[in-house]
Amino acid sequence: MTIQSFHPPKRTLMGPGPSDVYPRITEALSRPTIGHLDPEFVRMMDEVKELLQYAFRTSNALTLPISAPGSAGMEACFVNLVEPGDKVIVCTNGVFGGRMKENVERAGGEPVIVQGEWGRAVDVAEVEKTLQAHPDSKILAFVHAETSTGARSDAEALCRLAREHNCLTIVDAVTSLGGSELEVDGWGIDAIYSGTQKCLSCVPGISPVSFSEKAVEKISSRKHKVQSWFLDMNLIMGYWGKGTKRAYHHTAPVNAMYAFHEALVILQEEGIENAWARHKLHHNALAKGLEAMGLELVVPEGERLSQLNAVKIPDGVDDAQVRSELLSKYNLEIGAGLGNLAGKVWRIGLMGCSANQTNVLSCLGALQAVLG
Ligand code: PLP
Repeated sequence: MTIQSFHPPKRTLMGPGPSDVYPRITEALSRPTIGHLDPEFVRMMDEVKELLQYAFRTSNALTLPISAPGSAGMEACFVNLVEPGDKVIVCTNGVFGGRMKENVERAGGEPVIVQGEWGRAVDVAEVEKTLQAHPDSKILAFVHAETSTGARSDAEALCRLAREHNCLTIVDAVTSLGGSELEVDGWGIDAIYSGTQKCLSCVPGISPVSFSEKAVEKISSRKHKVQSWFLDMNLIMGYWGKGTKRAYHHTAPVNAMYAFHEALVILQEEGIENAWARHKLHHNALAKGLEAMGLELVVPEGERLSQLNAVKIPDGVDDAQVRSELLSKYNLEIGAGLGNLAGKVWRIGLMGCSANQTNVLSCLGALQAVLG
């Protein structure tokens, strides 16, 4: 039998990502492919960098999209900043903090874990104690928006502490960029990575990163070569350098970059502060609706992310059955629990253009109907 073209079903994506993609972005994706060293493409890439500086609220020169998903952005930060033997304090309050630990180990570093509670923000006082107990630490790493639990940590306070203890910071902003307040320069973040498929409502597969001058100094003065050729920022800097000086490093995913450019243009048109406020507005409505249905959120108020709402599954309710009915009857995707929370929670995303009133109302209605 001949295999036919693939036509995906039309879903509403309210899980932990990817989120629904703006039609303008899918349209941008289908524009003609040009060479990745074409002067017009180079010009567009310069605009991507500028728009990204706006999104990250930074003037860092080394701000660019890595041609691979969020995990590659994570890996880029760790392989470039961690040298063998470096002590790195890693805060783990969910799945993605655990991955940071793994990255430190693979880069030859020595992780010191601040074990937090799943569903809570990173405990700033615990981090301070750990920094005091390990004065030879080089880096503090934490997840700003823990997608596995819906908890938002106080990145500003954590970065301040790191500075006071002469540590660089590595911050995971995969789920926060575009959805929650995030100030790379204002908070003094040294290395940050994100993704395109969450609050930017772009197609998955690109990871924006940004490095402070202090981080760049550390990368340029490494004693050991970065063990990953593809993610060595010393080489990538040459590829993403301003204008026509660019040297070939890899073939950029040309059309995905058009899509990313469009996503950043949309963000700029809305205004980043308005985007943060919109996520908060629809989160408040969703949280009220869930509570009215007798459902409970995992994360205490004040530590909650707007864009990721982890809901406790009521006793006696079949997790998989509910998600599968939502998908088959309502074309609505919500997320399952991950790691320690697998089988215990649903994760309802309000990310990017998925954060809107229609989605909130239809999700509450569908959930009510399925739960009976
Ligand atoms: N970090 C966080 C907080 C995430 O939520 C994710 C993905 O969900 C990642 C890292 C990895 O990103 P990707 O799946 O794009 O590789």
